[in-house]
Amino acid sequence: MRDRTNITLDDALADAVARYTAANPASAARHDVARASLPGGNTRAVLFYEPFPLAMSGGEGAWLTDLDGHVYIDLVSEYTAGVYGHSEPLVRDAMTRALADGWVLGAPNRHEGALAAAIVARFPAIERVRFCNSGTEANLMALSIARAVTGREAILVMREGYHGGILTFAHGGSKLNAPFEFHFADYNDVPGVSAAIAGLGPRLAAVILEPMLGGGGCIAATPAFLSAVRAGCDATGALMVLDEVMTSRLAPGGLHGVHGLRPDLVALGKYLGGGASFGAFGGRAELMDRFDPAAPGAFGHGGTFNNNVLSMAGGLAGLTQVFTPEACVAMNDRGDRLRVGLNAIFARAGVAACVSGVGSIMNVHFVPGPVTDPHAVEAQDRRLLKLWQLELMLKGFYATPRGMIALSLPFGEAELAATLAAAAEIVATHRAVLPPA
Ligand code: PMP
Repeated sequence: MRDRTNITLDDALADAVARYTAANPASAARHDVARASLPGGNTRAVLFYEPFPLAMSGGEGAWLTDLDGHVYIDLVSEYTAGVYGHSEPLVRDAMTRALADGWVLGAPNRHEGALAAAIVARFPAIERVRFCNSGTEANLMALSIARAVTGREAILVMREGYHGGILTFAHGGSKLNAPFEFHFADYNDVPGVSAAIAGLGPRLAAVILEPMLGGGGCIAATPAFLSAVRAGCDATGALMVLDEVMTSRLAPGGLHGVHGLRPDLVALGKYLGGGASFGAFGGRAELMDRFDPAAPGAFGHGGTFNNNVLSMAGGLAGLTQVFTPEACVAMNDRGDRLRVGLNAIFARAGVAACVSGVGSIMNVHFVPGPVTDPHAVEAQDRRLLKLWQLELMLKGFYATPRGMIALSLPFGEAELAATLAAAAEIVATHRAVLPPA
């Protein structure tokens, strides 16, 4: 190994990029070919990173195989949607049976009512639920319901929140955002959010927030912050929309269950379709029953694939047979131990880095911890996250460019120990270019 005492961060990064590029010719070639028809070779922004993303050929359990034949422990877990890991046998059987029976039936099927019942039984604030095709769509529907039932326009969102490709509020928001009347508050700022809600008062249709910022850095809401939003909504008559698309996997009843919180509407998505396209929105029966098509003045809500048999059958098998409350608790306990272990590695090495998050979803930040405010991580040197990602991947751990880690059910004790060992090696190797505590 080269002498690393005088190496700069740019040198370390260039060296990692060179080794990554040399090791992954098939992924590089796939990227080049795809660029001819997909802009930048990409159809999903989060999956792009320099110099080119790894392309995967398959997966089993907590492991993935890339186009060059390398195997990885999966620390991405489909950005939290991959709760079941890869090729979970019970989910696969349910989907295979559904496929054998035919999959464009154009009618209610035998799975959707059972999946709805399982979701209602599981999540305390969801008395009725409807399905759609993505978390984005679930949030769009929740906000649209709020506007329709309140007759108001204003929607309060959190800076650095993420609710979908056209509901993204990181770094000031996206020009592609849906054209609602958005107003902003800061996450975990109790006086700020209370003042914003009171200021909008009778014009406010909804407050939408995640109980833990996911894309915003895995920063959990404080109980006081969630209570302040609930109280503000009660005082103004606005609906509280809780986006649990990512966080519903963190406890058997979601994070709203942990907090004993009663949002008016909850958005779900990701793993609840068994790993196929999925979204759902649900909440108070009185609100959701406006969708009863037999009721006078019912809201219409279409969607060709809302009840597609793959998502319905796979989701049902997954939620009822695999992601039991006990399995959920065990997966999140492993996540807690990974987070504690990683924080200890950084602390022992005297590195200014921390890992935030809840249970099985976490984020490494190269700033001193703990982090409770998303703005605290904005100034970090992104090159450090890049180096961390590339070194993990070169060691056989599939990793995100933003430092996020999500575990799956098959990620067990052996994978946990291997991840901690790899992290300790990376920190030891690059100690000289990491920021001192
Ligand atoms: N809300 C949150 C909190 C999310 O993390 C995501 C996806 N990462 C979404 C909404 C959007 O879900 P989808 O990608 O299924 O549209």
